[in-house]
Amino acid sequence: MSTHTNEQMLKTIHLADTKTPICRLEVKKHFDSLTNKEKHYAHYLSHASWAGSRILAGQLSDTAQSICDMLIHVLADRSRRSETGSPVLVDLEALAQRSTVSNEHFQYFLEYASQALFNVGNYRSFGDTKFIPRLPEAEFAKIIAASGSNEAQALFAQLGQQIYALLPEQQLLLGYPADGHVSGYYSRNVDKEDIEFVQKFIEQTGLSALNTRLFKASQQGSSEPDFTVAIASADMTKESQIHEFEGRKIQVQYGDFKEQMTKIADNMQKAIPFAANDNQKNMLEAYVKSFRSGSIEEHKESQMHWIKDVKPVVESNIGFIETYRDPAGVRAEWEGFVAVVNKEMTIKFETMVNNAHKFIELLPWPKDFEKDVFRPPDFTSLEVMSFATTGSPPAGINIPNYDDVRQNFGFKNVSLGNVLNAKAAGEKVTFIHPEDLALFEKYRGEAFELQVGLHELLGHGSGKLLGEETPGKFNFDVSNPPISPINQQPIKTWYKPGETWGSVFKSIAASYEECRAECVAMYLCLDKHVLSIFGHEGQEGDDIIYASYLTMARAGLTALEFYEPKSLKWGQAHMQARYAILRVFIQCGLVKLQVSENNIVIHMDRSKIATVGVKAIGDFLMRLNVYKATADAQEGTRFYVDATTVSQEHVEIRDIVLEQKQPRKMFVQANTFIDEAGQVVLKEYEPTLAGVIQSYVERSS
Ligand code: ZN
Repeated sequence: MSTHTNEQMLKTIHLADTKTPICRLEVKKHFDSLTNKEKHYAHYLSHASWAGSRILAGQLSDTAQSICDMLIHVLADRSRRSETGSPVLVDLEALAQRSTVSNEHFQYFLEYASQALFNVGNYRSFGDTKFIPRLPEAEFAKIIAASGSNEAQALFAQLGQQIYALLPEQQLLLGYPADGHVSGYYSRNVDKEDIEFVQKFIEQTGLSALNTRLFKASQQGSSEPDFTVAIASADMTKESQIHEFEGRKIQVQYGDFKEQMTKIADNMQKAIPFAANDNQKNMLEAYVKSFRSGSIEEHKESQMHWIKDVKPVVESNIGFIETYRDPAGVRAEWEGFVAVVNKEMTIKFETMVNNAHKFIELLPWPKDFEKDVFRPPDFTSLEVMSFATTGSPPAGINIPNYDDVRQNFGFKNVSLGNVLNAKAAGEKVTFIHPEDLALFEKYRGEAFELQVGLHELLGHGSGKLLGEETPGKFNFDVSNPPISPINQQPIKTWYKPGETWGSVFKSIAASYEECRAECVAMYLCLDKHVLSIFGHEGQEGDDIIYASYLTMARAGLTALEFYEPKSLKWGQAHMQARYAILRVFIQCGLVKLQVSENNIVIHMDRSKIATVGVKAIGDFLMRLNVYKATADAQEGTRFYVDATTVSQEHVEIRDIVLEQKQPRKMFVQANTFIDEAGQVVLKEYEPTLAGVIQSYVERSS
């Protein structure tokens, strides 16, 4: 391939996205239901979280922060202040006019700017690949010049070439600098052996790599230390020390990101008077100590108090949490979020838990295969108020990641409803029959809420594992074993002492269990009492059942995107599960897929849901549950692999599913500020490019 065509190809992959759907993280209703005290608590934690955005940039690359600064210089009017106390967004129309670039090019500029601010740099948080502006460099330069900002022009003179560079190719990906990739965690001369060597030192001295960066002296053997481990902290009271380690000099230096860590700790401190209980207070105090001193042990301490703070009205977590972006997987990215409970949804979930025994009786297995007492799984649905990270917030979290804290204190399992259920204005709904579209759009939110509640509480919460719990002690009558509804024979298998669901079903366990939970939701969503708990009666209830089944069928089809036909592997547990359910729908005659050259339309016979549909799901669910209950990994695995092996027919339509794939969404988050009357105000922005940019301008200071 010639260099020229290669460059063309690289260019298409690495151009900034265009026409990205934008969603607002809807939270106002829930924020407004907070007390004054709770609002202040949320406000300070949110500001602490976002105070770390410069850390995110620094961890990404050595130019990410300058690129963001340059864009803010162009897009912020520092001569005026908004009610948030920050600069205001410039008049974009006037800027476009002064720059004399075409409307299309100006649009491309705004797309690049919003994506760079959203990702805190010019690498996509999803996939870690570089993106470059869609407009020519000379046109970009005209906009920078038209801003009149000297700082922006100076930065562009420095960075312009780098912003557009597609070569060397290794630079298009984050990874080990020694391989030519980009990382902010290491100076460019650090290689893999260096990282391992210093890691050995870090572990032996009882430090942690989580909140560190690693730099190597450019000249070895001089009086300078060979390596510097820079620890993020506000204080530098702990002297920087040089250690001799296996013949090399390693300097441990506190105060990395000093300014940001100070701001973070100060905001955490300000939140303390607004804590709702002692757990929150102790947690905040440990956070402050950790961020000031750079101690990860103090951060662990904060997490122990965090776990004890059960179902708070305002939830948050903050620190150096996930290590995905460090090629060596030991250094963690800054992250901080604040979320608030969805009070209406919590009430519905609680009512359902209180009536759980009635619903569990309806499930398609004999009571021998069900627990004696229902214990609701730990599950909270929250709405994100702010999430400081690179790119999109996750739809759910399960933290902390410290193994010892998880073992001894547990963890929290949180679903972030407004991320999971976000829908962009004008977002195209694929594969739904035109006649179903209006109903689907109207009720997808309600259907989703119903499905989450049933899936999490009665899905994951139901079913018994039959076993010999300790030698000789069975949790069923072993002399008269339960009769399996699959073959009407007494069961022959069960869990042996020490065996668990995960250890018996191994790699298939996660997706299998998701499938069981999804089937419970499909099976129970027809129940009138369940529907009434969620506030749906009569015709509306029927419409929501239909919307729920349509949602599942569509998810099962889009799931094909997560199937890799070459390796015959599924990349995503939930999507594999939904594909299995679509197959059940098709086999029982409830759904037909109408395939044309470049589209697929789901035909669902609505009248069959309550007849063959629910019966087929019930049979399928019964088998999933009985194999699981009896530790029958052999039959269970065979059954599930069979149900999720993609048929040749479906491999063929996978290309259409990929073609119809909708672009990844961008989110716009709110800001908070304290007004003259001392009230915390939530300021929302339009779900547009200008809105996204404005939110970041007003987050800058
Ligand atoms: Zn689940």
